[in-house]
Amino acid sequence: MSKEVKRIILLNPGPATTTDTVKHAQVLSDVCHREESFLDVYKSLNEDLKKGANLGDDFETVIFTGSGTIVMDAVLSSFVPKDGKVLIINNGLYGKRAVEVCEYYQIEHVDLKYPTNQIPNLGDIEEALKKNDDITMVYVTHHETSTGILNPIHEIGKLAKQYNKLYVVDSISSYLMIPIDVKKDNIDVLMSSSQKGTSSMPGVGYVIAKKSVILNSKDYPKRSYYTNIYRHYNFFDQNGESEFTPAVQTIYALRQSLDEILEEGVENKFKRHQKAFEVLDKGIRELGFKYYVDEKYQSKLLIAPLFPNDPNWSFDKLIKLVRDEGFVIYPGKIKDVDAFRLSVFGAITYKDMENFLEVLKKALIQMNVQVPVKY
Ligand SMILES: *Cc1c(COP(=O)(O)O)cnc(C)c1O
Repeated sequence: MSKEVKRIILLNPGPATTTDTVKHAQVLSDVCHREESFLDVYKSLNEDLKKGANLGDDFETVIFTGSGTIVMDAVLSSFVPKDGKVLIINNGLYGKRAVEVCEYYQIEHVDLKYPTNQIPNLGDIEEALKKNDDITMVYVTHHETSTGILNPIHEIGKLAKQYNKLYVVDSISSYLMIPIDVKKDNIDVLMSSSQKGTSSMPGVGYVIAKKSVILNSKDYPKRSYYTNIYRHYNFFDQNGESEFTPAVQTIYALRQSLDEILEEGVENKFKRHQKAFEVLDKGIRELGFKYYVDEKYQSKLLIAPLFPNDPNWSFDKLIKLVRDEGFVIYPGKIKDVDAFRLSVFGAITYKDMENFLEVLKKALIQMNVQVPVKY
């Protein structure tokens, strides 16, 4: 019955390459989301997604059907009390998106904005907290997937705790990729989605929050019907099922990928990604590429090489040439910066990176781009 599918390496930062077992986990007899066989899987995910950070009963998982942005929407629309205010640390596309979510819901916020290749300054964050004592939430993106910057969540968490603020981390592209110490970093709420660190199909987002934070939000303004976290939590708690139809097949795939991740171990998985990154990074440098983000700020999960200055360079052509060999690459997402992004997410190894480097070099030569590339 099972169909052979060609393995494609996605070097774009999500969705990521999946294993065949994850792909095939979606193919099963039709099932209703209110049947026990599905509910067992759904309930087990609620518990086991927390295992990525060894979290216990004081934390709860709330699952949403949607892309990663649905959980940003959920957290910002659900966890700000009346008269509350959000401090958004914004040094990239995803920080900007959080600002836009606040604008859509008319949530008071401070947009602490930095250039997209810089990390935030702790002194500025403290000053913003001192100046705005009505701030209730500090919000930061852990891994700015638009550039590959890794923000200092531990240091920011210290400040959030010192000033007694709810601390929210968008860990969509870092959870289950980079080991995160939620307790030490003072994180109250984190979030992720199926297609990034979890190496599964897109379609499921999840929030992992302190149970007390969810319960406290019961009487907060209800800014959204579909993404209210208390509503989802409470319905599941009372009824043992999801109020709305979840992405059933995607959830089976997520269960399979989580099993594979927990079997590999988050630390081992991190090492696998790091090894792949080392090979990729070395090879890309050898080809002469320069990066948008300084090495010291990089996540080591993603790089943003700048377009070389060569009359024969065509990124569109390059996309096609490497696609023919089974690799997908993706442009950068930062306005006015000509860069592309290469990530080491998903079910890949350093060997895939070795193969990619050969394919890339061949494509550059075929395009008559001078190698090593010039700026
Ligand atoms: C991918 C991602 C998101 C959500 O993007 P979607 O396209 O909605 O899945 C949010 N934050 C970060 C840091 C991400 O990497």
